[in-house]
Amino acid sequence: MAESPENKPTNNTPKDWRGLIWYGLLGLTILSIVFSVMKSPAAPKVLDYTSFLAELDRGTVKQVTIRTNEKVIEGVKRDNSKFKTYYMDSPTLVPDLRAKGVQIQINPADSGWLLSVFLQAFLPVILIGLLWFFILRQAQGANNQAMSFGKSRATANGKDKNNITFKDVAGVDEAVEEVREIVDFLKAPEKYQAIGAKIPKGVLLMGPPGTGKTLLAKAIAGEAGVPFFSLSGSDFVEMFVGVGASRVRDLFKQAKKTQPSIIFVDEIDAVGRHRGAGLGGGHDEREQTLNQLLVEMDGFDPKTTVIVVAATNRPDILDPALLRPGRFDRQVVVDKPDIKGRQQILKIHSTEKKIDENVDMEVIARRTPGFTGADLANLVNEAALLTARKEKQQVTMVELEEATDRVMAGPERKSRLISEKEKEIVAFHEVGHALVAKLISDSDPVHKVSILPRGMALGYTLQLPKEDKYLVSKAEMESQIKVLLGGRIAEQLIFNSITTGASNDIERATDIARAYVCTYGMSEELGTRKYGRTQQQVFLGRDYSDHSKDYSEETARAIDNAIQGLIQRCYKEVEKLLADHKAVLEHVSRQLMEKEVIDGPEFEAMLKEHLKSGVI
Ligand code: ADP
Ligand code: MG
Ligand code: ZN
Repeated sequence: MAESPENKPTNNTPKDWRGLIWYGLLGLTILSIVFSVMKSPAAPKVLDYTSFLAELDRGTVKQVTIRTNEKVIEGVKRDNSKFKTYYMDSPTLVPDLRAKGVQIQINPADSGWLLSVFLQAFLPVILIGLLWFFILRQAQGANNQAMSFGKSRATANGKDKNNITFKDVAGVDEAVEEVREIVDFLKAPEKYQAIGAKIPKGVLLMGPPGTGKTLLAKAIAGEAGVPFFSLSGSDFVEMFVGVGASRVRDLFKQAKKTQPSIIFVDEIDAVGRHRGAGLGGGHDEREQTLNQLLVEMDGFDPKTTVIVVAATNRPDILDPALLRPGRFDRQVVVDKPDIKGRQQILKIHSTEKKIDENVDMEVIARRTPGFTGADLANLVNEAALLTARKEKQQVTMVELEEATDRVMAGPERKSRLISEKEKEIVAFHEVGHALVAKLISDSDPVHKVSILPRGMALGYTLQLPKEDKYLVSKAEMESQIKVLLGGRIAEQLIFNSITTGASNDIERATDIARAYVCTYGMSEELGTRKYGRTQQQVFLGRDYSDHSKDYSEETARAIDNAIQGLIQRCYKEVEKLLADHKAVLEHVSRQLMEKEVIDGPEFEAMLKEHLKSGVI
């Protein structure tokens, strides 16, 4: 599929009068300075030519300086007052002057008052003006927008332009399912309003770069056939306070005019960071912009059919105020595709290219774990380029393989490459977690096991609680530690060596063990009391707790021993558990390597299958 034309800032509307105001102000400043200089007392009196000739006839002129370049005559009268008039190239002027005995100078070498006035007054003004202009250009990103303050640069994409639909988005089926309802609402808002149903105002798409968040947002607009106003969060962050906020206001005004419509804020983390998280200076530009965004979203009346879709790959740094009900309360995860998804994406991007019929995209999909949609689109395009360079007619497996290597090594792909051996280790590690979670009591059910890299992690196991819980029991805390240790222990058991992959697990297990001992008073050795004081540093805008010591060195040692003892105990138990179930560990891990992602029910099914063969 061809990359769609960017919807982001193109150019301004003709109503760009705000910029003119600034030019006008600049001009006025210069003019007023010029006038004040001209009116200074030292300046000579300006005579019109008739008066000059009259003075000459009367014989009051003592001396003249004719400046032919500047086309002026400067004169001194017999009473030593100065005057000035305009010079005309007339053949009678010099004879007339001589007849009256006037002393004549023509173009003397000194540059004269005009140039010095110019140097003294104009040059600084011009320099300041130029400086001002360039600062503005810089601030606005050299986008020919130097003076378009406060105007939203969003452009609406009419129905005709945007023809991206859900068919163009593959491998993120769950996300597509979740946004289908939004499309339904935009198509027939009356249906929902008649029942009085409240529709989400904001949808937040979260996921790593290149997974198709922008694409999905366009597809929502395309499916619903509504205008799509798109803006990038970084456009909001301007140098001048108040500009971002006025952009937001403008954007919402435009969108409301053409409702039902979609406002898409890409990279919202640029504006939506934690307010007050930056040290020093609370009210910055970003904060104002964010406030304006929240005000606009809160100001929607029930009849408003504008939906704000935002995308971010940093949900962790977003201001919690954005996620409150009535704002971006619908959160949709757009994840990296699994093997089946990758195959579909490859197919989508191949439709407009000439592909040899012997090409098996499954092979390519299998080779590219961790690739995002953007990586895969890039891969297919590289293959087509290679084919053209070789002057072949159709893309074959050879080019696709070569392109895969290129994209893997290429500078655009920052996420890491995983070897077969690493993949195997990660699979056993993750199944280690999952199996422990399944086998022990007091543990949350396994929702998903994956060996697709995500952020810094090479794989992950996701557990979701059956119901909301506010109290965590002692047994549950121990279970959490055991599940965390499961990964490392599985590695040790199978490969008889351990890797750095478990560092985060160990950190979390240690934190839990520390809280178990120090905060909740659960350890038998140390009894029911709290160790350490909690300090709140409010000025940071967040609660960065710090546990300061309020106990003796001796107790500190006892705490360390208690934490260590607890982890040790859990380790021993899990070691035995996994050793007893080594066969099932192997079985599930092999399947995970094959499929890359296993969801909860599949996991259960695999265990049952194994149970039937009598191993568990
Ligand atoms: P993001 O906004 O998440 O960073 P984009 O939507 O900009 O990613 O994706 C860039 C390009 O990669 C898209 O235009 C599309 O060609 C391709 N792409 C990404 N994800 C997918 C997907 N899930 N299905 C099909 N194509 C995709
Ligand atoms: Mg994007
Ligand atoms: Zn782990």
